[in-house]
Amino acid sequence: MTEQVVLSGATGFIAGHTIELLLAGGYHVVATMRDPAQTDSVAHLTALPDADKRLELVQADLTTDGAFDAYVRDADYVLHMASPYIVTVRNPQRDLLEPALRGTMSMLESCSKANHLKRVVLTSSMAAITDEPDDAHMLTEDDWNEKSSLSRNPYYYSKVRAEKAAWDYVARHSPAWDLVVINPFMVMGPSMSRRLNESTKIVADMLNGKFPAIMPLTWGIVDVRDVAKAHVLAMTAPSAAGRYICAAQTRPMRAIVDLLKRSGFSGSKLPSLSMESALGTKIAYGLSYVQPKGVGTYLRTHLDRTPRFDNSKIRHDLKLEFRDVDATIVDTAVDLAHWGHTKKPQPA
Ligand code: NDP
Repeated sequence: MTEQVVLSGATGFIAGHTIELLLAGGYHVVATMRDPAQTDSVAHLTALPDADKRLELVQADLTTDGAFDAYVRDADYVLHMASPYIVTVRNPQRDLLEPALRGTMSMLESCSKANHLKRVVLTSSMAAITDEPDDAHMLTEDDWNEKSSLSRNPYYYSKVRAEKAAWDYVARHSPAWDLVVINPFMVMGPSMSRRLNESTKIVADMLNGKFPAIMPLTWGIVDVRDVAKAHVLAMTAPSAAGRYICAAQTRPMRAIVDLLKRSGFSGSKLPSLSMESALGTKIAYGLSYVQPKGVGTYLRTHLDRTPRFDNSKIRHDLKLEFRDVDATIVDTAVDLAHWGHTKKPQPA
């Protein structure tokens, strides 16, 4: 019999690639979205092979209690991906914490009423592992972000609170299904729709001259196609358990800019000035106070820090092999130009 998967947040960047894999894998997919009237935002999904037969797009808001009840009742698996991913918001409690936390609780409550649910895969984040990487510490699944708050990296706070609440729920209720969590780092790669994601926007900003200089920033990166695959593997792999750091490698901004220059983007507005020296870092730190609050706290907790992480658990348990990060970065830039967010590359 065809197995049924409920996925929340159909319009999302990671969701698109995941739905594509699920349909190709023969699943019946019930994907939720806030506003099904926005058919443009899901045109890339309805055009997928077999979407007419095995993809249902249905309405659900994270902040409406019971919103997922009817969809989850007959599901075999749930992928809970929907959560606001925005760095700068007006009201962190209302715009980030509430939907992230209430949405997760609402989904788990619905799961507990399901008839034959086997597993729930929650999309958490490296944001739930740390909001201030320390060069001397190798991050593992045992690490928890204990520092974020509504005023310090509130998006990170929303992710760690939602993930903790999910594990607490499972510990308190011992449901018939099990919970597996994916913790991706910064997700890059091609988008299935024109919508700009908060993470790929960083590369768009580099190409569009929004960065005044090359900053002392280093990101952990993972390809969106690998994140989608990780979710599908986590859904069914008998060995899957607990949390999974989902990140391939790190790249400093300098390496990304140089790679893009070599890859046909030298005609774009990539930064050339360097703020990577000790003095540059101090200046960047000072300037962080005149940035929007979300960006400011992010800079102060990430400048001049190189995240180190151990991704062996996901490679071992899920047999996930990560794509080459440089190829992912170039794919991101080519895709941004394809959707008109940046200037087209020139042949090198
Ligand atoms: P997107 O912004 O592309 O997707 C977010 C999704 O959440 C959208 O479908 C959005 O729907 C939905 N959503 C937001 N608020 C609500 C709400 N109140 N009710 C219903 N749906 C809502 O981001 P990503 O694909 O990148 O993110 C997917 C998940 O992955 C999130 O949980 C995010 O935290 C996590 N993640 C992302 C990373 C990244 O670098 N991209 C890194 C680590 C984790 P709508 O279209 O209506 O806004």
